[in-house]
Amino acid sequence: MAEKSFKYIILGGGVSAGYAAKEFASQGVKPGELAVISKEAVAPYERPALSKGYLFPEGAARLPGFHCCVGSGGEKLLPESYKQKGIELILSTEIVKADLAAKSLVSAAGDVFKYETLIIATGSTVLRLTDFGVKGADSKNILYLREIDDADKVVEAIKAKKGGKAVVVGGGYIGLELSAALRINNFDVTMVFPEPWCMPRLFTADIAAFYETYYTNKGVKIIKGTVASGFTAHPNGEVNEVQLKDGRSLEADIVIVGVGAKPLTALFKGQVEEDKGGIKTDAFFKTSVPDVYAVGDVATFPLKMYGDMRRVEHVDHSRKSAEQAVKAIKAAEGGGAVEEYDYLPFFYSRSFDLSWQFYGDNVGDSVLFGDSNPSNPKPRFGAYWVKDGKVVGAFMEGGSGDENKALAKVAKARPVAESLDDLTKQGISFAAKV
Ligand code: FAD
Repeated sequence: MAEKSFKYIILGGGVSAGYAAKEFASQGVKPGELAVISKEAVAPYERPALSKGYLFPEGAARLPGFHCCVGSGGEKLLPESYKQKGIELILSTEIVKADLAAKSLVSAAGDVFKYETLIIATGSTVLRLTDFGVKGADSKNILYLREIDDADKVVEAIKAKKGGKAVVVGGGYIGLELSAALRINNFDVTMVFPEPWCMPRLFTADIAAFYETYYTNKGVKIIKGTVASGFTAHPNGEVNEVQLKDGRSLEADIVIVGVGAKPLTALFKGQVEEDKGGIKTDAFFKTSVPDVYAVGDVATFPLKMYGDMRRVEHVDHSRKSAEQAVKAIKAAEGGGAVEEYDYLPFFYSRSFDLSWQFYGDNVGDSVLFGDSNPSNPKPRFGAYWVKDGKVVGAFMEGGSGDENKALAKVAKARPVAESLDDLTKQGISFAAKV
């Protein structure tokens, strides 16, 4: 059992960790000052690739192609880059105990890591059907997707069950992206989710109607308003059937479950203030414990624009929060300060030939604009959300680079909208004028 001390430790090896390391490197760290500790076996990478390019039947994305920070056009930190920059990358190392008062972390192997400043970047873990006691949920080929090891299992199952039947449980990001990926791999795909439409946390019924019809046209079957209530398996343990709560059953060679995630905060329970299920931070991602910061999916931070505390599970925030925390740490060391984090929420997704972006807040009334006919070869439509007479959120499928920039501008500026009808008529040109 070894003991090592660092000035800074980043706990976690995901997106936030990669962007925090890049920021430390660009501000300058001395060799041996900074360690990144991750339970994954690979250096930080752009996680969204796992549900997209990683699953392509041909020309699939593979590491080192998507290590951080290529996702935002930044420098790619290869495993050897960390060493070159004097950063210790400690992989395949799970921290099982954290003592924030003693400033020490203990790994599963019993190694002790001491720090002066800690950045918690542990991200989220998937919710599992076994956690809810669903019968047969531990059968083989019932798969989840969070880390690269999970993605490798999906790739293996796709190869082993070529052209078979897949059931996707969940109608959110993972459900939609994985249904598309499996369909592209020639699987017979059925999606099952309990809500009245897909992506209900963001999409309105109108937006969802476009995606559901588009997916149906691509051959994906969609079953709404029910859940998977049990699974049966072949004698070899591999899943062969999904039972639905409404009494139906579906044959399945592979089941992918995407029913949500929870932030990994358990190590710090009782040691740090929490809010809305995450670790509470200020606008510099400082927690209630001195010298401890939390970034990415685990942080509940002040969202300045809206004057409330939020936790955001999206890649853009994980990158920007990590950079903000490191900038704040380095500025404080020099006796200075940085501006408060002023985040504009931004989410995106890609599947089949589709690509959408959303900026702002999806609250209030909403209106659709453009051509949302799913049969058109190049659908291009959008939506605005209007609250208290102001446009607060903007969405677009198939937008160009300039149009997406206009969405961001309108969501940030929150201009007054004359009427919902006017927004529908003006469409993207309303945002372009802001
Ligand atoms: P993560 O990237 O999850 O990193 C956490 C890291 O901490 C992991 O390496 C983990 O192994 C490590 N860790 C956790 N606990 C320990 C421990 N005890 N000891 C050691 N290491 C530990 N967002 C979008 O906006 N658009 C998308 O299209 C999109 N696609 C996605 C696709 C997939 C498949 C997934 C899973 C997420 C996607 N997201 C997307 C969300 C986005 O990837 C996350 O919000 C982002 O990765 C969060 O970054 P993070 O650093 O907080 O956590």
